[in-house]
Amino acid sequence: MKTIESLIKLHYPKAETGAHITETYLKYLSDEHGEDLTKMLFATSVCADDVNVSTDFRRVLTRPFTLGGLGGMPFAGFTGMVAYAHHIPDGGSGFIFYGPHIGITDDGELGRMRRPGQKSLSNSCGALMLALSRLEANNDVYVPMNVEYDYQQILLERMVMPYKQEILTASNRKKAITEVTYKNIDKQLHFLIKKAKEEFNCKRLYLLGAIIINTSPEYNDYVEVRNFEVIDLEKLDSHTSTSIMEEEAFKAL
Ligand SMILES: [Zn+2]
Repeated sequence: MKTIESLIKLHYPKAETGAHITETYLKYLSDEHGEDLTKMLFATSVCADDVNVSTDFRRVLTRPFTLGGLGGMPFAGFTGMVAYAHHIPDGGSGFIFYGPHIGITDDGELGRMRRPGQKSLSNSCGALMLALSRLEANNDVYVPMNVEYDYQQILLERMVMPYKQEILTASNRKKAITEVTYKNIDKQLHFLIKKAKEEFNCKRLYLLGAIIINTSPEYNDYVEVRNFEVIDLEKLDSHTSTSIMEEEAFKAL
């Protein structure tokens, strides 16, 4: 039988354990960038799912400020980003870990997992797999209607809608919707940071973007890093990230 690591690396060849990623990047922040980790305010934009404790950043960095909601989208929005920006300690800096998550079974099936205390398998990310089932079920144009009691799920579905064909024609749809969501989180976060840039009580902001891969309780979770970025907030105007407002996909929503 193949090891869980070899099964994960079939899909995510650069994935490392969450513990390894934590150690590597915290050391990098303090040794290479000279950051005082006691003055670094940690924030996350990961899914609300209780399974997302894959990294150990919170053991070293206090708090976090929770920007994310279902699927990992930064649903705290502009107001949340401004609040986070205001809370950064004097003389400190910010560090945001973000990305979607996807489960993997002991047999290597993506999109499902065995959770702590349970024998049966369940979806992970549940919100994204629900969004996928709705994309698959509707031959006609599916318009997620806004409802007050489920607005995060509805918005998450609207954000993947422009990529429907890309997702439905992919060799692995569950992996594809997760990739699309990574891009959506990444763009939305950059947009919010740019919009709130005058509010930050610091000069530097670090971003670590990744796909989180949830395994059965007896194994380590894995993380495939997609972006590590240092943003100099005073020079952010020349920052080359593209606003989501300028994306064709956004205009098509
Ligand atoms: Zn989730």
